[in-house]
Parts: sequence; structure tokens; C-alpha cells
Amino acid sequence: MSQDWDVIIIGAGTAGMPAAIFAAERNAKVLVLETAAEVGGTLHLSSGQMSAAGTRLQKEKGIDDTPTMHIEDIMRISQNTADRDIAGLAVDNAAETLDWLETINFKPLPDHPVKGQAHEPYSVHRYVWGEHLGKSILEVLIPPFESAVASGRVTLKLNTRVTALIQGQDGSVTGVTTQSDDGGSDTYSADSVVIAAGGYVANGAMYKELSGHPAYGDHSYPHCIGDGLNLGLTAGGTAWGHENYLTSFGVVMQSYDVPSKVRCRQIHWPERRMPWEIYINAHGKRFIREDEPSVDVREHAIQEQPDLRHWIVFDSTTLKEAPPLFATVSADDIKAAAENGEPMFYVADSIAALAEKAGLPSDALQETVNAYNDSQGSGQDLLGRKHMPRPVADGPFYAIRSQAFSVSSTVGLKVNTDLQVIREDGTPIAGLYAAGESLGQGAMMGSSFCGGMLVTPALTFGRMLGKSLLPLDQAARAAAE
Ligand SMILES: Cc1cc2nc3c(=O)[nH]c(=O)nc-3n(C[C@H](O)[C@H](O)[C@H](O)COP(=O)(O)OP(=O)(O)OC[C@H]3O[C@@H](n4cnc5c(N)ncnc54)[C@H](O)[C@@H]3O)c2cc1C
Repeated sequence: MSQDWDVIIIGAGTAGMPAAIFAAERNAKVLVLETAAEVGGTLHLSSGQMSAAGTRLQKEKGIDDTPTMHIEDIMRISQNTADRDIAGLAVDNAAETLDWLETINFKPLPDHPVKGQAHEPYSVHRYVWGEHLGKSILEVLIPPFESAVASGRVTLKLNTRVTALIQGQDGSVTGVTTQSDDGGSDTYSADSVVIAAGGYVANGAMYKELSGHPAYGDHSYPHCIGDGLNLGLTAGGTAWGHENYLTSFGVVMQSYDVPSKVRCRQIHWPERRMPWEIYINAHGKRFIREDEPSVDVREHAIQEQPDLRHWIVFDSTTLKEAPPLFATVSADDIKAAAENGEPMFYVADSIAALAEKAGLPSDALQETVNAYNDSQGSGQDLLGRKHMPRPVADGPFYAIRSQAFSVSSTVGLKVNTDLQVIREDGTPIAGLYAAGESLGQGAMMGSSFCGGMLVTPALTFGRMLGKSLLPLDQAARAAAE
């Protein structure tokens, strides 16, 4: 079957749904192709935390903020590794996205916006999310998306994977080839094709090739297997962001499998809980002051450790007296898990026996514990730690293995500020656009995590493409003629 469309959108997720909604509002004839059996993509799993400067909500609460302040925060946090043009484009248009979401019934939590949560904080309160996290966004996108489908302006094909882009002799993209779940193959032609197919975190081989590390966490949307990036590259696009790989800190996995589901997250933010424990790498050494105030510094420190992991080591008095290490696993649960030999949890009567159980070098661990304990009285910790409530002294001793991993794709397709996919020489591939995680996280925040800088740009770029695609494409064609 072959049909003509104004716009084909590959993926009905965070970026694809607003692209379809806004293109339909302009009476475009839109085809949305979605490989999954449902719409929503990563919004089903995402924390849905968004950041935008100059929003109506901020103004109502008397918060002074501007896109310039937002991009300066991003460049500060990322130490100038984000792409100022593309992140700046997202930031310049983010307030309109948040304001639009509120008009379609998105409700931020009552005390929002906030400065930060899991990541390095912003300088002002500009960070919001809803009660059901990513699903709070999806819930408000579905009604306008469904009415666009009901109006006949958007045609949605689920269980339909785009497998190739069709190109004219001049390299311009003129359509797509698909494969449906029943094995059928179709082609569709269009003036513009938008890649909104997400990232590649669910593709272990691709993740390892692009980041140099296994995809340890089984925590991403299973259909995000890198099709967006691969389609764009095959069409002549170029990839960027490899140097920006970064993982989060302090996650305990359920099993030793790669990937594994997450069991619990350590409260490693000193502003929420001062550490009583010490952090040990695979060499049996401490590698950071555990009360390091910057989450960005902690995230970069774990990048340098073998297999991106550390062991949280403590004694039985700490287990009894310290504030909870995890929000969802109590001290009793830790004790039981270690005594039952559950993965990642270890207990032993001596440091040497603990090292053996946890797979750590025994002499090195003993030396590290001795040095830490010796520095207790002097207040002169070797790594500059200030909060030292007690030594690691009373057996039995515990260790919990913690894994760093990322839920997003660092590498993506390079685009220009019209969101056209570009070749290595910077020329655009006519008819081909991209938005969302297919652009890579590195573009938006470089080698750092800046709150909300994936969900908001995905929604924003989808919205912008939906609003502008036809004129842009016509302009490009006119320029080419
Ligand atoms: C657990 C978790 C928490 C997160 N929390 C946050 C957060 O708080 N804030 C933040 O900014 N970011 C967060 N992120 C990242 C953010 O949610 C994603 O980057 C963003 O939602 C991706 O949007 P997208 O439109 O690019 O992809 P998606 O929303 O995943 O949509 C892509 C769609 O394309 C479809 N697709 C894929 N390949 C094809 C193909 N070949 N043909 C047709 N369809 C295809 C997929 O099925 C999917 O529906 C989080 C991610 C995860 C996993």
C-alpha cells in the first residue's frame, strides 16, 4: 500500500504525540507509526520531571526566571559540555510547553516548582512534575491525541515498526518502509518524516558499543532499541555526544544479571541523609568523601571506578543507629537480605570474611577500614570527609553492592536549529527531522544530568515540529529549487 501524507511521525511517545497533535491542528494529514501496541513510549516509565523558565506557574508564584538563566544553569552544571544552540532552543520554547500542558489539564504538585530533586540543583525554582510522574503527562496528552485521530487528521498505526527511510536520488527523505507484527511490509510517502523513536537503552549491544559499558539497568521502554538513531544514520545523518556518557549513582540491583531490575535506591544526598557508611571500589579503596555535597561530582567519581560500581560498607551499630539508608528497604530488611545471601547484600563477622563474600580484596579493604577508623579521632579524613559519626568497628560487618547506570541514551542524531537531521558537513537531509531522545542526552545536558532536560525538550521539539513542519519544508524546497 502506498499513500501520501504531509507528515509521517515515527513513534507515538513523548515527542511524537505533541508533534501529531499540533500538526493536526494545522490540518496536516499525519501518519503516526508506532511499533508498540500502545501510545506513550517512555512516559509509561519516566519520572516525568520537567523544567522550564518563565512559565505561567512561576509568574503566579512570583518566581523570576528567564530562558537565559536556564541555559546558563545548564552550561554551569554541564561545565559547558551541553550544546548551547540545541539546549538553548529547547529552553527558549519550554515555558510555552509547560503552559500548554497546564491548559490541557496537567497538574504539577502543589509545592512546585522546586530547584531540584535527584540532580544538581538549579539556581531557581523551575522544576515540576505531576502526581503520577510520566503518566501524569501521558494522561493529558491522550485526549487531544485521540481527538486528532477521531477527526481523521491523524492516522495511527500501532504494532507497526519503521524499518527504513525511503530517499530520492538527491538524498532527500520521501517516505518510510514498515513492518507490522503480522509480517506485512508497507511503504508510505510524505513531505516530511519526523524521527521520534526514542533512544537505544533497551538495546544492550548498541548501548555497550556507544557507551563502552553494559546497560546494567532493565529500566527503559522495551521498544527503544535505537531505531531512530540507526534510521537517521543510514539516511546520511551523523551522531554526536559519545564523550558525554554519564550514569546516576547509588542503585542496588535485584540480581547479578545484566540487565537487571532495580531493587532500591540509596539515599546518597547528604542534604537528605548524612552518610554513616564508607564507599569502597573493586580495589578495596575509598574513592570519594562520602559526604561530597555535589551529586554531579559523585556521578563523575563513579565513572572512574571499575564496572561503575561500589560497595557500601558499615558495621552493625551503624545498621542499628543510622537513619534509613534506603526509602524502601529497612534496616531489618538489609539484615535479612544479607543473612539470606540475597544478591548484592553481604554480612560477615570480620572485615576479611566480608571482603571474601563481597568479592573484594581482603588486605586492601582491611587497610582502608583501618585508615578510616584511625582518622576518626583526628578529624583528618584522607578524602576530606567531614561527617564521621563512628568507625566501622562492631561486627558483624555489612556490604551492599551499588551499581551506577543510565536510563537514557547519550548519543543521538545531530540536528540544526530547525531540527533537521544534518550530515557530517552540516548540510540538512531534506525532509528528515528528529526530536526527543533520538537526539541524544548529550546535546541537552552534555556530561551531566540537568533536571527535566529530556522530557521537556522532547515535548517541546515535538510541539515545535508539529506547529512548523509544513512551512519549514516548503521553505527548504523553495530554497532547493
Ligand atoms: C525510568 C526513567 C525515568 C526518567 N525520568 C526522567 C525525568 O524525570 N525527566 C526527564 O527529563 N527525563 C527522564 N527520563 C528520560 C525521558 O523520559 C525520555 O528521554 C523521553 O521520555 C523520551 O522521549 P522520546 O519521545 O524520545 O521517546 P519515547 O517517549 O520513548 O517514544 C518513542 C516511541 O517510539 C516508538 N518506536 C521506537 N522505534 C520505533 C520504530 N522503528 N517504528 C515505530 N515506532 C518506534 C517506541 O515504541 C516509543 O513509543 C526518564 C527515563 C526513564 C526510563
